[in-house]
Amino acid sequence: MRLLLLNDDPVRRHQWQDRAACQDYDNELFFERENEMRVVRARREQAAKQVCAECPVRAECLRFAESGPEVFGVWGGTTQRERAIRRGRRRRRRI
Ligand code: SF4
Repeated sequence: MRLLLLNDDPVRRHQWQDRAACQDYDNELFFERENEMRVVRARREQAAKQVCAECPVRAECLRFAESGPEVFGVWGGTTQRERAIRRGRRRRRRI
């Protein structure tokens, strides 16, 4: 289950997770494997993003992923790299 890491910790659990479209998907779809080939990663991330595209809590999920320390994997329809780019753009806008 996708949000297992957060669900294990009742303090960090968020109600929006109960409506997550990824609940019935394997974590491996959303998180990079060690030594994963680029083409395989791109395909996996695309498939994960398709799940996110149908998710009713996509905005909450993305906000969560961008609100704290760096999180790995696909969240809110974005990859870790895409969130880093978004973070960089926000930083530059503030300068
Ligand atoms: S946006 Fe994606 S990663 Fe976030 S809860 Fe929905 S399906 Fe899961």
